Amino acid sequence: MKKFYIETFGCQMNVHDSEKVIGTLVSRGYEQVPSVEGADLVLYNTCSIRDKAEQKVFARLQDFKRNHKGKTFGVLGCVAQQEGERIFEKAPHVSLVCGSASYNALPQLLTQIETGNRRVTGLSLDTEDTFETPVTRRDNPHRAYITIIEGCDKSCAYCVVPFTRGPERSRTAESVLAEARELAAAGYTEIQLLGQNVNSYRDPSPDGIGFAELLRRVGQVEGLRRVRFTTSHPRDFGKDIVDAITENPVLCNFVHLPVQSGSSRVLSAMQRLYTRDEYMRRIDWLKNSPRNIALSTDMIVGFPGESEEDFQQTLELMDEVEYDSIFSFKYSQRPNTPALGLTDHIAEEEKGRRLTILQEKQRGIQLRRNADYIGNVEEVMVEGWNKATGQWIGRTSQNKTLNFARVEGEVDLTGSYVAVRVLRAGPNSLVGESVRVANAVQ
Ligand code: SAM
Ligand code: SF4
Repeated sequence: MKKFYIETFGCQMNVHDSEKVIGTLVSRGYEQVPSVEGADLVLYNTCSIRDKAEQKVFARLQDFKRNHKGKTFGVLGCVAQQEGERIFEKAPHVSLVCGSASYNALPQLLTQIETGNRRVTGLSLDTEDTFETPVTRRDNPHRAYITIIEGCDKSCAYCVVPFTRGPERSRTAESVLAEARELAAAGYTEIQLLGQNVNSYRDPSPDGIGFAELLRRVGQVEGLRRVRFTTSHPRDFGKDIVDAITENPVLCNFVHLPVQSGSSRVLSAMQRLYTRDEYMRRIDWLKNSPRNIALSTDMIVGFPGESEEDFQQTLELMDEVEYDSIFSFKYSQRPNTPALGLTDHIAEEEKGRRLTILQEKQRGIQLRRNADYIGNVEEVMVEGWNKATGQWIGRTSQNKTLNFARVEGEVDLTGSYVAVRVLRAGPNSLVGESVRVANAVQ
């Protein structure tokens, strides 16, 4: 039996893509192994969103440049799509380069390698059958990802995704719902709908439904207790999505709405297609919902031309919104992107200074936001047991980590839903005690 090792970098889309790759290989008789040493085939599923992420894979490949006898190396995902055959020049021991839209062709590509082909590529982006991978290997038995839309038709000035994942393609609602029902029947209780811009979703069938209606329908699938979705683009974020959440408790109290900057001037230079005011209108809809919806965002500091005044506007927006969590990044120049043509670049040191200020501010906001939960009873889905702390790891509907001590003897609570009273709050997690077990898994 041939053995393969796979390492995944980057976002949830990549994690889910790897699940599809693993499923495909296992169904072809391959066995997954936990380390490179024991593998015949070594795969890196890569991310190229920032330069640092891209460099990681080349550093990994470098480790095996001189010592790769008997192993086949493959680069998958965004770096594969972006760099294509140039990867063979940078790392001559690589035999396979395959972008995410071509994973269905993996079995044929591997056959080509087995029959003596030294270098093979799968780099087409115009594929219709991106979603229909026949076998997906999901490691988590309780939470599953479903891709509903691939690619991106926006052209944010800093972003490489439209080049690495190609144009937007929505999957039919029928096939999304069929997969959701199958997963629920297999015992999954939480589903995450995935896409670069999930809310640009439009069912390609004749009377195609939009994202809010899809969300409603997935939320009604019997057996599901939690439905999440990521990522939403503010431009396409309609009030109908907030209404859908408000109406159905299965749709989680959590929305990730990347703002990138608090300055309309910078947003325009970024080609984000909304102003600060338009973004804040969406935040108002979310805050006015009777559900306690937690908010998270992505921020970029040091985009070319970002002045101190622009940066201050970002800090003010953070005070106004009070996000529950953020992902924050220094602007990184990416190949092919429109921002490469801008001149007024910010020094690395200054980007670092702004990032530190922003992250410190957010830490204070999170401490305050989390402290508001003390005394609340929240339902958590138990994700596992933390041996080091002697606590169960739980996640609330708001996507907050809420840990609690062992109380139910030796029963394994993983995957069950437990009511937990919040006792303490830190900037990144909550701690509590279990109130009762809703449906413990024996
Ligand atoms: N489609 C999502 C949206 O429009 O918000 C974002 C997807 S992207 C994979 C995730 C995040 O990476 C972005 O929201 C942005 O904050 C960050 N990002 C993308 N390109 C970047 C760059 N060149 N430099 C720094 N951060 C970047
Ligand atoms: Fe990148 Fe913008 Fe598309 Fe998001 S919407 S993936 S940031 S181009």
